[in-house]
Amino acid sequence: MATKATQAASAAKAAAAKAAKTAQAARAAAKTAKTAKTAKTVSTGAAGPTDYDAIIVGGGHNGLVAAAYLARSGARTLVLEARPKTGGAATTEAPWPDAPDFKVTRLSYVMSLLPPTIIKDLQLDKHGYKIFPMGPYYQAFPEGGSIKLYADDAKRNHDEVSRWSRKDADAMPRWDAWLAGLADVLGPLLLTVPPNLGSRKPRDLEQTLRLAWRHRGLDVRTIADMTRLMTMSIADLLDDWFESPQVKGALAVNGVIGTWAGPYEPGTAYVMAHHSIGDVGDGHLGNWGFQEGGMGAVADAIAKAARENGAEIRTDARVNQILLSGGRAQGVVLGNGQQLTAKVVVTSLHPRSAFLDHVGRQNLPDDFVQDIEHWKTRSGVVKINLALAELPDFTADPGTNLAEHHTGSVEMAPSMPYIERAFQDAREGRPAARPFSDGVIPTAFDQTLCPEGYHIMSLFTQWVPSDWSEQPHTEELQAYADRMIDCYNEVAPNFKSSILHTDIVGPYQMEHDYGLIGGNIFHGELSLEQLFHMRPAPGFADYRTPVPGLYYASSATHAGGGVCGIPGMQAARAAIADRRGPARARRRPRRS
Ligand SMILES: Cc1cc2nc3c(=O)[nH]c(=O)nc-3n(C[C@H](O)[C@H](O)[C@H](O)COP(=O)(O)OP(=O)(O)OC[C@H]3O[C@@H](n4cnc5c(N)ncnc54)[C@H](O)[C@@H]3O)c2cc1C
Repeated sequence: MATKATQAASAAKAAAAKAAKTAQAARAAAKTAKTAKTAKTVSTGAAGPTDYDAIIVGGGHNGLVAAAYLARSGARTLVLEARPKTGGAATTEAPWPDAPDFKVTRLSYVMSLLPPTIIKDLQLDKHGYKIFPMGPYYQAFPEGGSIKLYADDAKRNHDEVSRWSRKDADAMPRWDAWLAGLADVLGPLLLTVPPNLGSRKPRDLEQTLRLAWRHRGLDVRTIADMTRLMTMSIADLLDDWFESPQVKGALAVNGVIGTWAGPYEPGTAYVMAHHSIGDVGDGHLGNWGFQEGGMGAVADAIAKAARENGAEIRTDARVNQILLSGGRAQGVVLGNGQQLTAKVVVTSLHPRSAFLDHVGRQNLPDDFVQDIEHWKTRSGVVKINLALAELPDFTADPGTNLAEHHTGSVEMAPSMPYIERAFQDAREGRPAARPFSDGVIPTAFDQTLCPEGYHIMSLFTQWVPSDWSEQPHTEELQAYADRMIDCYNEVAPNFKSSILHTDIVGPYQMEHDYGLIGGNIFHGELSLEQLFHMRPAPGFADYRTPVPGLYYASSATHAGGGVCGIPGMQAARAAIADRRGPARARRRPRRS
């Protein structure tokens, strides 16, 4: 989908690209042969055995993690993926048929939250998991000037922020230390199975007390800070710390990523923390990185680990129903009517698909059904992927040669009021007139995504109205993308003319092509009432479900969303524990 404005540029660049393409053809042919070799190991269709120990519904990264752990435990494991390829929202694709050498990481775009435990257990490094830590946050301001913020360089942060406010520069190390202190509390919680709060059953009480005991070292001040973090808006929180609109705009971005809420909404401070506590394995708090080969390569690495452990993966294998017998999960029914049986079924789909469509309301407790019906799943995100003939030439930092400001987040979030206006437009039912964007240029490091001399830029943008998941809104999305591009063009005047190809993925396509209901990027909003023991429903946050034998591994469980694999690992652990010991078998109903 090239914009009209960029078609002329596309034609002009085509001639220049032709020579380069001849040389690339040989490389591409070699790569195609290699890909075909890898793909051969993925079974397609519904052929094969019909009885397994464990069946995984959905071959997104969480389903694949669950499969790898279950297979590693000795279970005969099958993954069923509806699409022609695995990965779900962690996918690398070539969206332009006339430019097959240009690949984009089509939905998710950066790594941070995958814990070292999973990387080590599944030996992902061996299977192609390779991260380039990304550079600083960069914002060029329409009124002139720019700012860079570094995840791990206090001295340079001070210099940068001083250009906008000396007071903010002095506050920055205290802010970083404050966040690091809270991350020490929140980080381990991500790997904690939430207890069944409110239940008086001895085992549940024991787990609640154990969690309280683990946090006995917390003092009054830390509890107060945690309370602030969980309840405040990112705007109010930043107002307490900083004065410069430029600094606050840059720091607010993580508070609204993927969220159906502007920076003035309570709870957005926590969203900022969720996106700030990750560590790509290099020990730098809050640092993010680019996977070589795009996010699809993360899923591919996990799939390889699953297969190496003995799991079978079938693509083009849509599941239509979870089979029940005597109230227990017994297997699945595929779209073609074939039945496959297993004593353990792990589903990694959005809660509505997993429970209301596949299990059926009549087979679930009424209050659980009501909780899933009330599950909030909006976000108004539009992903815009671009192929560029050259790097953006920012007025504030001139040049099209690769520079540090191209290597991190290239933001369009110049102030909190700017971000808030974008949200208010969407809440009032219009796509944002001036959208906000978290942009990245992975090809600053990764040479595998496009021909040499060209670049891929990924714009994660917000917001369009939340009900745009119900209709394609194709023309309006095109106009929205053009406005987004205009915003960048104001600060980098070569931007528009450098665009060779444009790929726009809106909420409707996210829902219909990828199963992201409502276009929500995490299978469910990260709002306070949907976190920890409430994710996806009270009483069922331990990766088990009201149906014995059915486990839940989607991003709609605790520690999701994001490409973190924790839901997949925890669901597999629960299933493995239950297989080993009947004493740990699920009791239903769990709420009491
Ligand atoms: C635009 C966008 C940007 C994002 N950016 C980031 C980012 O930069 N970093 C980050 O960490 N996270 C990011 N996320 C979030 C992250 O990608 C998701 O939280 C995560 O990938 C979800 O993984 P999952 O395995 O839980 O689910 P999914 O990836 O949704 O996988 C579910 C799988 O089930 C399959 N399926 C659906 N229905 C059926 C059926 N009936 N039968 C069989 N299979 C079925 C789907 O095709 C899919 O493959 C982003 C998401 C989006 C959409």
